Amino acid sequence: HQKIQYEPYRKNFYVEVPELAKMTQEEVNEYRLELEGITVKGKGCPKPIRTWVQCGTSMKVLNALKKHNYEKPTPIQAQAIPAIMSGRDLIGIAKTGSGKTIAFLLPMFRHILDQRPLEEGEGPNAVIMTPTRELALQITKECKKFSKPLGLRVVCVYGGTGISEQIAELKRGAEIIVCTPGRMIDMLGANSEKKRVIEALVSTCVLVRAAQVMRIVENVRPDRQTVMFSATFPRAMEALARRILSKPMEVQVGGRSVVCSDVEQHVIVIEEDKKFLKLLEILGHYQEKGSVIIFVDKQEHADALLKDLMKASYPCMSLHGGIDQYDRDSIINDFKNGACRLMVATSVAARGLDVKQLILVVNYSCPNHYEDYVHRAGRTGRAGNKGYAYTFITEEQVRYAGDIIKALELSGSSVPPELEQLWGTFKEQQKAEGKSIKSSSGFSGKGFKFDETEHALAN
Ligand code: ADP
Repeated sequence: HQKIQYEPYRKNFYVEVPELAKMTQEEVNEYRLELEGITVKGKGCPKPIRTWVQCGTSMKVLNALKKHNYEKPTPIQAQAIPAIMSGRDLIGIAKTGSGKTIAFLLPMFRHILDQRPLEEGEGPNAVIMTPTRELALQITKECKKFSKPLGLRVVCVYGGTGISEQIAELKRGAEIIVCTPGRMIDMLGANSEKKRVIEALVSTCVLVRAAQVMRIVENVRPDRQTVMFSATFPRAMEALARRILSKPMEVQVGGRSVVCSDVEQHVIVIEEDKKFLKLLEILGHYQEKGSVIIFVDKQEHADALLKDLMKASYPCMSLHGGIDQYDRDSIINDFKNGACRLMVATSVAARGLDVKQLILVVNYSCPNHYEDYVHRAGRTGRAGNKGYAYTFITEEQVRYAGDIIKALELSGSSVPPELEQLWGTFKEQQKAEGKSIKSSSGFSGKGFKFDETEHALAN
C-alpha cells in the first residue's frame, strides 16, 4: 500500500439536523429503547434518526425509498445509518429481516457519489462481501432498486457459474461489487488486471456475515471504511473484526431483553411500613401454587426479612453474596427440588436461577434499573409456565418508576394508573426545578449483565 498514491476521499458526511440536536440524552435513551432496545458500544455514536430526510441522503434516494414503500427507517437503519454516515467503522447486529441491507447501502451510495466518476477500467468504489450466493443475489437486487436511479453499476460475483462472463461484466465497469469471497479471490488470482482494480479506489467495504475475507480486505486501501453486519456476533468473528475494523462502534438491536408475556406483572405503590403485611397477603394467595422468590436489595435486608417470615410461620431460606459458595449451592438445590419453596434473595445471588415451578417473584425492594427488573421478573414464567411478578415501590423511590413503566410497556403489560401518576408528577416537578430526569439505569447498556445461558433463556 505504501507504493500506491491513493486519492484522498471524504468519509464523514453526517450533519445532525436541529430536531435531533435538541434531543436530551434521556430522550435518546428512551428512543433507543422504543427502537426494539438498541444498544450502542463505543464513543461518539450519533443519535438515531427518525425519518429518511434526517440521514442526509439525496432526493433520488428519497424517491426510490418512497417508490418501494420504505416509509421510515427500521431500528437498525435508524441507528446504523447516521453512524456509518459519520465515517466510522461499525459492527451492526440485528436479526434476519430487520433491514440490514439498506442500513449499509444508503451510506455507501453517499460515499460513492461523493467520489469522482470512474474512468474506463477503474473501480469498484465499494465491495460487499457475503458468505452465500443467495445472499449476494438478494443484496444485489436490493441495491439495484437504488443504483439504477443513481446511475451506478452493480456487479454480482459468485461461484458456481462461469467466471468469464462475470469478468467481462466487471471490465465494463462497476462502482459496486457484491461477491462471495471464494469467487472474488479466484478473480484476483485469475486476473491481475482486476487485482489492480480492487486496489485502486475501494473505499467502502461492507461485509455481511463475514467468513474468509482477509485476503480481499488486504487488497483494499488501509484508510477504507469498513462495516460488518450480522444476525449474531459469535466469538469467532470478534478476532476478524479486530483485524479489519478500526475503532468500530457497535450497534445492536434487540439485545435488550423484555419480560416474557407469560409473566403477569403487578406494581404496587405502597408505604414502607405496610410492605410486610402486603407481602403476607400475596404469599397467602400464591404459596400453595408453587415456589416463591422475594427480592431485596441488601444482605442485611435479606436476613431481616427471613427472620420476620419465620416468625410469621413461613419456612424460608435466604440467598445472598454473604453466604459461602458451598451453602449457596445447597440452598439453590433445596429450592430447585422443592424441599424449601420460599426464598429471600438479592439479585446478584439469584442470577441465572432457573426453577420451573417458580410461580411468584416479589420485588420487596424496588429494582433500581431496567435490566434488574427484567432479570428478576424473568425468574418466573419459564418454559411456557405462567408466572406472577409483584413489585413494591414507595413514593420515595419514584425515580425508579420510569424504568419499570418502560419494562411494563415493552412487554405489553398495562401500567397501573397510580404508578403512572406518581411518575408524571415527579417528571413535572423535576422539569419545574429545571432538572433533567436522570434515568437510574444503564439504558446505555451498563447495569446488569446477563450471562450467555441466561440470555438465551430470557429470549
Ligand atoms: P436483513 O439483511 O436484516 O436480513 P433485509 O435488508 O434483507 O434484512 O430486509 C428485509 C426486508 O425488509 C426486505 O424485503 C426489504 O426490502 C425490507 N425493508 C428494508 N428496510 C425497510 C424499511 N425501512 N421499510 C420497509 N421495508 C424495509
